[in-house]
Amino acid sequence: MDARHHTLPCTSLGSTRTLTSLHYGVAAARPKVYIQASLHADELPGMLVAHHLRERLMKAERSGQVLGQVVLVPVANPIGLAQRIDHRPMGRFELNTSENFNRSYPDLAQVAFERVGRELGSDLDKNVAMVRAAVLDWLSEQTPLTELEGLRLTLYRLAADADVVLDLHCDAEAVLHLYSETACWPPLEPLACWLGAQTVLVADYGAGGQPFDEQLSGLWSQLAARLAAHGIEVPLPQACASATVELRGEADVGHAWAERDADAIWRYLQHLGVIAGDPGPVPEPRFVPTPLAGSETLKAPCPGVIAFHAEVGTVLSPGALVAEIIDPLSGQTALLRTAQGGVLYARTRERYAPAGLTVAKVAGHRPVRTGNLLSE
Ligand SMILES: [Zn+2]
Repeated sequence: MDARHHTLPCTSLGSTRTLTSLHYGVAAARPKVYIQASLHADELPGMLVAHHLRERLMKAERSGQVLGQVVLVPVANPIGLAQRIDHRPMGRFELNTSENFNRSYPDLAQVAFERVGRELGSDLDKNVAMVRAAVLDWLSEQTPLTELEGLRLTLYRLAADADVVLDLHCDAEAVLHLYSETACWPPLEPLACWLGAQTVLVADYGAGGQPFDEQLSGLWSQLAARLAAHGIEVPLPQACASATVELRGEADVGHAWAERDADAIWRYLQHLGVIAGDPGPVPEPRFVPTPLAGSETLKAPCPGVIAFHAEVGTVLSPGALVAEIIDPLSGQTALLRTAQGGVLYARTRERYAPAGLTVAKVAGHRPVRTGNLLSE
């Protein structure tokens, strides 16, 4: 194992932070899988999963079982992890800029198109190598000004040439679910089966905000689209499958879950040929992939105390009652119902709702939304 410590730019006199990446296998070996935890720094289940993966990877490497390459970043956001206000963690937005740590990643497809788009030829493997080299060169040439820019750039330098990228997050209260770009969903299906995911949300590129996972898979889907738009016909695969894996809710941090999830990821690594060994049969899926545009967001229509009527994981019929929003001053109660039904896959941890609060999310089968499909 090779532990690398990346110093982030110094934003303020006298304080510097470090991002640590753990590397297993031979640097040039394929497939390369990149796994990071807690980019939203207050979403901690992935950090404990990374701890369990780290132990397994150490043992596997000692016995020569790492056939490909794994890069593990157990603490992907040291900036956000240190942010607290009034004794509460604040790991989603950088306090200095109010920017979401999981947004604003660079458009690698445009970089690759400009640098090598017209030099690609008939050899598919050579095209993949040229695109990866061009992107890594561009990333190495960038000079970040701030700690946040340095964090985004460092993570991308580690992940941009990976075959598979897993970004481990969680929701507030939730069942295990995944987000993925349509173009790279099929290769990720066994992972979702082993994890026992109860919801999978897929979207074409452009869900909004340029998040970490989408810009990595988008390198290939959007480069292919740009080449086609310019009449350039060359073979180019979807050479990166990336997913945001939501490991249940914020409080679902414990060894039983983490061991189970690490084992599921381990079997997927075996399935990919990164780790030696037989992963066993792929379990039957507990989900039917649904469009991200079909995810119904239930918002509080007025302020009040939240009383839930449905647990996460419940399959709701259209019109089913999800929660009441109760005004104890007037005695009035607003009923929050799902319009189209589906799996109640996430809900807030708050029990007081200001008007407009996102109270719950239901994965419906029919696209009902347009525009920016991700929450702030
Ligand atoms: Zn997150």
